[in-house]
Amino acid sequence: MTVGLFQPNGGWIEVIAGVMFSGKSEELIRRVRRALIAKKRVQVFKSHLDDRYKGVFTIGSHDGRTIEAVPVDSSEQIALRLDPLAQVVAIDEAQFLDAGIVALTNDLANRGRRVILAGTDADFRGEPFGAMPFLMSTAEIVDKLHAICVVCGAPATRNQRLIDGKPARYDSPIVMVGGADSYEARCRSCHTIALPNEAQGKLL
Ligand code: ADP
Ligand code: ZN
Repeated sequence: MTVGLFQPNGGWIEVIAGVMFSGKSEELIRRVRRALIAKKRVQVFKSHLDDRYKGVFTIGSHDGRTIEAVPVDSSEQIALRLDPLAQVVAIDEAQFLDAGIVALTNDLANRGRRVILAGTDADFRGEPFGAMPFLMSTAEIVDKLHAICVVCGAPATRNQRLIDGKPARYDSPIVMVGGADSYEARCRSCHTIALPNEAQGKLL
């Protein structure tokens, strides 16, 4: 990590992007643990729409490791709950946050904080997700991680949404609260999006 590169005031933004199951939370947890070993004051936030009532005070990676996190729904909540003495601010599931997260994180970096954001940079259609593209373009460091395609074993770069086990339609909502959908990591060629009903007839 090129930590010394961004002196003199030491602030910068890191983004850990990639598909679900690519190890973003694992990597965020790894960086937070190392910052704690370095005796930095660290504050961790997690944005999540669904998990509010089931253990959202921790960030869990799919390998079972956890760290404590403050649950938030908006960039404003992060601003309100910010520990003014935190030297490192980490935010998981950043794709669910509003556009205000871009100004907030840049302001933190300008004021000497190290900001680490993890998030899915593409939605189930493979299109840019929320503020992630803006965060990636204003960050000093961007890592894009890959999972393993569950169909063919190639590096996975797409979130496959399934509803009742079938590929979701293009016009289904980007965020479905309530967990009616499920996701798989897939590569570009195994990723499938069902056409909207009205388009299906026209293309036949
Ligand atoms: P993310 O935050 O990107 O969703 P996590 O850090 O929570 O990812 O989980 C990554 C872990 O998920 C991997 O180390 C592995 O144990 C597990 N995993 C489950 N399915 C897959 C997959 N299809 N490809 C890669 N890892 C997977
Ligand atoms: Zn594949």
